[in-house]
Amino acid sequence: MALDSLSRSTVPAWAKIDLQLHQPYRTWLGFGRLRCDWCGERWGRHGCHPRESAARHFLNTASAAQQEAALLAGDITAEDLRLKRRFRPSGAHRRKPSPYPVPAMRFQAAQ
Ligand SMILES: [Zn+2]
Repeated sequence: MALDSLSRSTVPAWAKIDLQLHQPYRTWLGFGRLRCDWCGERWGRHGCHPRESAARHFLNTASAAQQEAALLAGDITAEDLRLKRRFRPSGAHRRKPSPYPVPAMRFQAAQ
């Protein structure tokens, strides 16, 4: 399906690459803590930042089928599903509106 393939390409390549690069490994011959194989940061929530960022981007851009496949493959964990962008009623961290007016042409093209 055309729409399906469109949504498939919305996952940024860097996010897919970071998810592959930043993998956990156990220190002390498998008895120690989990650490990131790529950057050496501790693993888990708020540990390896590039990986968390990539997981968040993946969840926000991937289709449902992609997410399911990534979960099965182990690229994304159940823990990552909680990383999804939070809705803040206060509007904190919202992107500022651009100071430049959007040209009318762009609105016509979107329709
Ligand atoms: Zn890492």
